[in-house]
Amino acid sequence: MTSIGFIGLGNMGGPMARNLISAGHAVAGFDVEASALDRAVGNGATAAASAAGSAVGCDVVITMLPAGEYVRQVYLGDDGVLASAAPGTLLIDCSTIDVATARGVNEAAATRGFEMLDAPVSGGVGGAEAGTLTFMVGGASTPFERARPLLDIMGSNVFHTGGPGNGQAAKMCNNMILGISMIAVSEAFTLANKVGLGAQTLFDVVSTASGQCWSLTSYCPVPGPVPTSPANHDYQAGFPSDMMLKDLRLAQESAGLTGVSTRLGAEAEAIYARYCESGDGASDFSGIIRMIAEK
Ligand code: NAD
Repeated sequence: MTSIGFIGLGNMGGPMARNLISAGHAVAGFDVEASALDRAVGNGATAAASAAGSAVGCDVVITMLPAGEYVRQVYLGDDGVLASAAPGTLLIDCSTIDVATARGVNEAAATRGFEMLDAPVSGGVGGAEAGTLTFMVGGASTPFERARPLLDIMGSNVFHTGGPGNGQAAKMCNNMILGISMIAVSEAFTLANKVGLGAQTLFDVVSTASGQCWSLTSYCPVPGPVPTSPANHDYQAGFPSDMMLKDLRLAQESAGLTGVSTRLGAEAEAIYARYCESGDGASDFSGIIRMIAEK
């Protein structure tokens, strides 16, 4: 049994912690939202009074927080994880954050003698519930091997993508492709409709032709061709549009810092920003087709 401090027990962290408890591990949880902490306690966690409190006396600390500034605060703050965890505690940040923050926090942890991994996920709330997440893990090999048995409980695909920050790099690049490809597929279905080509026919052709991609074959933005896609459920998330926008912004920040021209990534960010500003941030990101079709 591993004793785990789990900080951030929201839509993703809650079920991830529950799967660790179900597998026989002890979880000391903390969340600033009392309702999230109460849910975790209902699932068998013990409640810590602070982030530091959940880190004390644990073998492993896992964080699942909204953004980079929360990760900095939880790890680097006066009452944070680095100031409280015992030497040898393995630190795993599963939040989706920018590469620079992931590398900075990793370096601060290393300076204090801690091994740390960035391990963002894809697979959404459904994957967190089912324990089928994909983990993209940045950091050294020794902590990766140490973390792997726990990651295998919460996910079904675990990739070691290189040194510190490379987990975030993989996630950011994947989601930039995803945002762009969802817009491309949505434009194609909208155009097909206008020129009199049926959605199912377009799907049948493109899903076996060179335009095929995950946004089409697994997550088709029009109702019908893929019965499990959110298009068949009034675009309920799924993967909320405001999270897609967050991830596209992370990619643009990184592109700016590294001087890379990502023009389609920038355009995708602008399109999703408009969609979210119109009040659709909570709906699934495939709902972007509704805005494209309106124009
Ligand atoms: P969420 O808002 O439901 O959960 C985040 C939790 O962190 C909240 O319960 C919040 O109260 C807690 N929190 C904030 N500050 C804290 C602090 N200082 N100490 C302790 N707890 C604190 O968000 P989520 O959907 O669970 O997403 C978490 C992360 O996972 C994000 O980085 C997100 O980008 C990423 N992610 C989400 C999805 C998804 O589909 N929801 C998919 C992949 C990745």
